[in-house]
Amino acid sequence: MKRISIFGASGSIGQNTLDLIRRAPENFKVVALTGGKNLHRLVQNSLEFRPDCVVTAVEENYSVLKDYLTGSGVEVLAGTSGLNEAADRSTDLAVSAIVGAAGLEPGLRAMQSGAHLALANKESMVAAGSLMRKTAKDQNVQLLPVDSEHSAVFQALIGEKRDAVERVILTASGGAFRDWSLKQIEKATPEQAATHPNWDMGQRITIDSASLFNKSLEIIEAKELFCLKPGQIEVLIHPQSMLHALVGFKDGALMAHIGPPDMRHAIGFALNFPHRLHLPVERLDLSVIGSLDFKKPDLEKYPALRLAFEVLEIGGLSGALYNAAKEIALDAFIARKIGFLDMACIVEAVLKRNFSGYFTKIDEFSLENVLMMDQMGRKQATEEVLNLSR
Ligand code: NAD
Ligand code: MG
Repeated sequence: MKRISIFGASGSIGQNTLDLIRRAPENFKVVALTGGKNLHRLVQNSLEFRPDCVVTAVEENYSVLKDYLTGSGVEVLAGTSGLNEAADRSTDLAVSAIVGAAGLEPGLRAMQSGAHLALANKESMVAAGSLMRKTAKDQNVQLLPVDSEHSAVFQALIGEKRDAVERVILTASGGAFRDWSLKQIEKATPEQAATHPNWDMGQRITIDSASLFNKSLEIIEAKELFCLKPGQIEVLIHPQSMLHALVGFKDGALMAHIGPPDMRHAIGFALNFPHRLHLPVERLDLSVIGSLDFKKPDLEKYPALRLAFEVLEIGGLSGALYNAAKEIALDAFIARKIGFLDMACIVEAVLKRNFSGYFTKIDEFSLENVLMMDQMGRKQATEEVLNLSR
């Protein structure tokens, strides 16, 4: 039986994870569940799965949560200290499914206490790839990608020599606006951006899919997870979201991973690793699907991607800066302070302000440096939002 902790249990990835655990209760013992604002879900899930502890990241929710769980035997914790305490508890596998840079520290701490990490929180790899890799290596734990594209690459690499890899191709659905013109996209609302044609995901990643900020984070995540060089990573628009990624080898072979757009596949793969167990996902009939389409992304339509390719080249802590600026720009778009295309303008402005900066050149970094860069990115992006919305 695997002991498992889920950080961000109340979100989309968290709920899909619990769905799989619900179907195979004999395989898992839940140690910790964490959530944010959605108290109702956290209470229900705590009563159903009876973790040793449950954490609400929102301090003010502590007493209500505690009241609901009185007599349940579930310990209630709150805030950052509660998250850290849960991450420090011994477990076999931690699922990192908090959204945003807030997921970095719990993931690192979970690895430091000896857990393998099922990583959905791509922001940790983008902001602190070297630190994440180093921590996994030092602790002798496995970083198991949960992002569908990265899980696909990971699976295609099993049994292969890393130096035989020539390139990695990630696919992108193109999100809500793939058939919209630039002129139409300019006026897009948060509601329109938050409707994904293929995947059912949290609000933030769905909007990031429409801007390709999600794919942008993913190319940086791929570079960090698989130690690739910038020129080895490509992106293809693939509207059906069936083929998640391809690995190209030196001999010209391309290994593709095809599956339905259901996150329970990638999550289940990580939960059951190194075994492949039955998963409740649709079995594809390629004769019904008939054809799959691919095209190159238009970098003018998707400036976020152009900027991410620059970040790949810059390296160092530029990923932390890029992600922090993106998180602030996304908040401002959701709050209707700025337009859809302004998000990339803000990230570009913040990157430009730091091009000659000292921190963009540091490669081996500490959590302290990452957090400092993250804070700087947030501060500068907030200034850029103010400039734009004046
Ligand atoms: P979501 O918004 O549905 O859920 C986010 C979870 O994080 C919730 O439990 C929320 O309470 C918690 N949370 C939010 N802010 C927090 C904070 N400051 N401190 C502590 N907890 C906080 O998000 P999601 O769609 O499940 O995505 C989670 C992560 O997985 C993201 O990094 C996303 O990019 C990645 N991911 C998601 C999908 C998907 O299908 N949803 C696919 C691939 C990767
Ligand atoms: Mg993905």
